[in-house]
Amino acid sequence: MESRFAIENRIWNDAESLPRDQLRALQVERLRDCVARVAQVPFYKEAFAREKVTPDAIQSLDDLRRLPFTTKADLREHYPLGFLAVPREKVVRIHGSSGTTGRPTFVAYTKDDLALWSDLCARFLVSGGLRPEHTVHIAFGYGLFTGGFGLHYGVERVGATVVPVSSGNTPRQIMLMQDLGAQVLVSTPSYALQIAEVARAQGLDPRELPLEFAHFGGEPWTQDMGERIERELGLMAFNNYGLSEVIGPGVSGDCAARDGMHIQEDHFIVECLDPDSLEPVAEGEYGELVFTAMTKQAMPIIRYRTRDIAALNASPCPCGRTTVRMSRIVGRTDDMLIIRGVNLFPSQIEEALLRVEGVAPQYQILIERPGALDVVTVRVEMRPEVFSDKMSQMQALRERIDREIQVVAGIHVNVELVEPQSIERTPGKAKRVLDLRNT
Ligand code: ADP
Ligand code: ZN
Repeated sequence: MESRFAIENRIWNDAESLPRDQLRALQVERLRDCVARVAQVPFYKEAFAREKVTPDAIQSLDDLRRLPFTTKADLREHYPLGFLAVPREKVVRIHGSSGTTGRPTFVAYTKDDLALWSDLCARFLVSGGLRPEHTVHIAFGYGLFTGGFGLHYGVERVGATVVPVSSGNTPRQIMLMQDLGAQVLVSTPSYALQIAEVARAQGLDPRELPLEFAHFGGEPWTQDMGERIERELGLMAFNNYGLSEVIGPGVSGDCAARDGMHIQEDHFIVECLDPDSLEPVAEGEYGELVFTAMTKQAMPIIRYRTRDIAALNASPCPCGRTTVRMSRIVGRTDDMLIIRGVNLFPSQIEEALLRVEGVAPQYQILIERPGALDVVTVRVEMRPEVFSDKMSQMQALRERIDREIQVVAGIHVNVELVEPQSIERTPGKAKRVLDLRNT
């Protein structure tokens, strides 16, 4: 990826570059300690009794496989805080998942957990170029969602300036970025596109904004989408991943090489499993990520099934970190569509659309079931300059999109071209899939 900004390769914490054998030994020790601490959590107590697991049973990382999985449904069943592993008075903060897929689930933090979380966020921020002299504009929502507060404290830990703008009112966000000279943007990638769009509508070239770096997370984005955002805003984009059940942002993040996100393995053990058989997939194959958060105090979690699909890469990275890297998330198992027997992720549609000139990177995928079969319609916005053109050109554009989707995903879908600005913009996570089958 071409960029006018280069970054120095810096490592925030020596733990990121521990020799692998030391890292593994640390993981075993921490896992054993974790098993001992969660043994009083009713859900784990029961599961451990069933499987006859005791802390002493953890002798190597292979023993992880003797431990039970934890799912979102398990958390819901013990709503609101049935997974607490410390007395209630030790809890200093509560967050919740943003509820993308239903009722929120709560997570809790002790004082030490918050310190750890800040450190983990500092790690990926620094690996993505953050320096103390930077000003960081945080456009993530502040609230139960872990994005805003997580990044906020991470930036403070590094010693940079935080502008805690939160979400909404894009014209005001643009004014603040300009007036305060923010070099760094923290947001969802879809919100960055919206910033560019609103700037243009104001007659401002988005590249004129002072931004040099962006740390994107919270939703899937393809490499092509990243390149588009980098071009439009004149910045360098870094990916970071996390989820509230594991800790929030800070589970993994890009380094200067931007070839996979380093997983903070001194705190989280990762597995990549076939979501059906729950057996490990081969390295480099896509599977469901499963995380064990060993070191959290308030709510450690064992083998949490994220439903996020990605691949792992254990090869050495030029940045010097020794940790395993994860690919971009291609989608959630919940969002995976099975169309006439073919698996389809929204990210594949995104990849195809971004290859087509004349369409804006704004799209929605509608699923309907008018008869016995599911019908998928990809609704995509045209660029303003294309919109006024002739019908025949529209038809050609539709065919072009259909062809690209056929190449990337191997299926035909309906393509609906819509006016510029007609797809709803959200300040947080974009809603790409509209499932109208049960409405
Ligand atoms: P939810 O969206 O499930 O209500 P969270 O706010 O905890 O809860 O969001 C975590 C989820 O967001 C992850 O499981 C993943 O699906 C998505 N996510 C977070 N960061 C990224 C990223 N960098 N790339 C793709 N998806 C991400
Ligand atoms: Zn690296």
